[in-house]
Amino acid sequence: MTLSRRSFCHLFGVAAGLKLANHLPHYGKPPGGDVSQRVIHLDRNENAYGPPAKVISAIQKFASEANRYVSSERDSLTEALARLHGVDQKQVLLGAGSTDVLRMAAQAFLSSQQPLVVAEPTYNGMEYYAGFTAAHVIRVPLTRELTHDLAAMRKRLNDSPGLVYLCNPSNPTGTITPKQQIEAFLNGLPAKTTVLIDEAYHEYATNASNAYASFVHETRRNESLVVVRTFSKAYALAGLRLGYAIGSEAALERMQRFSIQDCINRSVARAGLAALDSQDAVEDSVKRTDDDRQEFFNQATERMLKPIDSHANFVFMNVLRPAETVIDHYRRHGILLGPQFPSMPNHARISLGTPEEMHEFWRVWDLLPVIESM
Ligand code: PLP
Repeated sequence: MTLSRRSFCHLFGVAAGLKLANHLPHYGKPPGGDVSQRVIHLDRNENAYGPPAKVISAIQKFASEANRYVSSERDSLTEALARLHGVDQKQVLLGAGSTDVLRMAAQAFLSSQQPLVVAEPTYNGMEYYAGFTAAHVIRVPLTRELTHDLAAMRKRLNDSPGLVYLCNPSNPTGTITPKQQIEAFLNGLPAKTTVLIDEAYHEYATNASNAYASFVHETRRNESLVVVRTFSKAYALAGLRLGYAIGSEAALERMQRFSIQDCINRSVARAGLAALDSQDAVEDSVKRTDDDRQEFFNQATERMLKPIDSHANFVFMNVLRPAETVIDHYRRHGILLGPQFPSMPNHARISLGTPEEMHEFWRVWDLLPVIESM
């Protein structure tokens, strides 16, 4: 007898259902087949469409070289990124995912005497790694528009932070902090403060809003600025672990001391190069995500829901009740959502999946008791 994900969860409970799902044939592969047969991941802002074809062939082509340590391909990737961003190679630092780059920044710039300033809510990676350094964390609530409150953050510069973390577009809200405000903030920073702008969702925002700008170009003249990018989102390589920082030579030298030798393996370097050579596929994937986001808003509006305007591959939405109950409801139906964010307890973060997955998302939504929005 074959059990569907749904009937299995009903019979044996959710935890057992999720455990079994790890062994279901479609799990962990680019989506395809019946969505009721696998756990649906709307929890980690992954790219629902799988990696570009050139990346898959590069990994297959070079698999037989796995006995060799990484060599010139890592330098080729650094070179390609420097060319892409119009900076010197010494201004590029690779990491095993952008979280690894955040770790290096935490270790380089934070200490018990040099606190971290972050927004509340924000992506928790930076704060997690601050924990390695005994740095105090200063949380500054977002504005009413859910952008970074840079006026309030500026006041905290009096506390001599080692690092100010800005996430733009922001996770979990998907909102953009306007470029003029960031420009003004970057003027006149204290000498010992570094600003790190995490642009993990950059590709989804570039054409979407005039308010948005990447600050990569600014690293050429501002020694206090580090910009972080990842291959995990629009490039769809989350499982391979590849991210990087662009910054001044001086800033990156300090971070490099904490990098792990050869953490970028041969396959990953090849995959990164193939990904950079797949701009058409990346554009397609961003376009599909735009359509998926629009469809999410259409479905939400039909249900009188008001998600926050998003410039990323996820949506943050007021679910009209404690988010944990909704997260739990979905988990029982084999769909994983993002974590609860305590400062916005009625909002859930929903990563955008394929149309089939989102159809299932709304089917499961409609099983919740109706609560009228105010
Ligand atoms: N930065 C932000 C804002 C994120 O949302 C994430 C992951 O979701 C990361 C960094 C970490 O990405 P990775 O380590 O896969 O590059």
